[in-house]
Amino acid sequence: MNGQITAGELINPEKCYLSAAVDMEAAENFIQQAMDMIIQEAVKKGTNVKEKVCEWRSPEQLKELLDLELKDTGESESKILQCCKDAIRYSVKTSHPRFFNQLFAGMEPHSMVASFITEAIKTSLYTYEVAPVFTLMEDVVLRTMIELIGWEDGGDGLFNPGGSMSNMYAVNLARYSYCPDFKENGIYSSSRLVMLTSQEAHYSISKAAALLGLGTKNVYVVPSDYRGKMIPSALEEKIQLAKSEGAVPFFVNVTAGTTVFGAFDPIEEIADICEKHNLWLHVDACWGGGALMSKKHKHLLNGIQRVNSVAWNLHKMLMATLQCSAFLVRDKT
Ligand code: PLP
Repeated sequence: MNGQITAGELINPEKCYLSAAVDMEAAENFIQQAMDMIIQEAVKKGTNVKEKVCEWRSPEQLKELLDLELKDTGESESKILQCCKDAIRYSVKTSHPRFFNQLFAGMEPHSMVASFITEAIKTSLYTYEVAPVFTLMEDVVLRTMIELIGWEDGGDGLFNPGGSMSNMYAVNLARYSYCPDFKENGIYSSSRLVMLTSQEAHYSISKAAALLGLGTKNVYVVPSDYRGKMIPSALEEKIQLAKSEGAVPFFVNVTAGTTVFGAFDPIEEIADICEKHNLWLHVDACWGGGALMSKKHKHLLNGIQRVNSVAWNLHKMLMATLQCSAFLVRDKT
């Protein structure tokens, strides 16, 4: 048809236009060179204590140093490799031993190779058909995490793009459990719902209130003690306050490993209060969940088997590559 390739011809294996577009030998060569460079610059230098965490430059300087303009013409492979090298050079190496900003410092080679594999085969999480191996793998990992949490009747879970998302899922499920009509009727069918969390909690809890339409003013902040742990009697007071205002408290977030202090809220005592008032108890164990793997430190999360849901980031204390974030829920329905 007018000398053009039809869609049918494009995917016809006999004609193989799509794969012909990639010269496999050249591709392999390029990938090999890139991998050597990545190991040298990102892995070896990026984790070497004698190297810098980052060669810091201002935005103006960086724009001068890097060739960031998109062009209509292509570039040679040597130029592309140089650009990749520069991208690594001027980036913050978060696996460097002296990187102390976010909570995910440290390189874990096996996890990194696993990430390379998922990138190389461009896998997807949708269904068993498209990701048979990873679907089974996910199931085993989630089941093991559920065992570590100690939910004797099991539970369910999924991996998602970060701990903030896990915390939001928890609020959404708790709200659904309290007001099943919410899904169809929206905010118009419910009373004023109140969430409770400590002053040290991660900001994703109030972000969830904003995104889910509950409103940040309906997040009641419970004071913490001098070590950053939620004070259970103060939680009880805030619940009473919400009830006296005619509002409906429905969700309590405890943090196992607060972002700034690394404090662990007392789960057992808070679970008693939640049971008494019939509140959904969620634990944000994004950072501190890793302590469940330690015989010495797991007592910090005593009582976690009593909570309704857990957010646990394996990319933080357990050093998986970003993002590896699980949301787990006790109610399998
Ligand atoms: N919860 C806690 C306690 C955190 O420290 C963090 C991030 O540092 C999060 C939640 C958010 O996790 P993410 O960055 O994966 O969204």
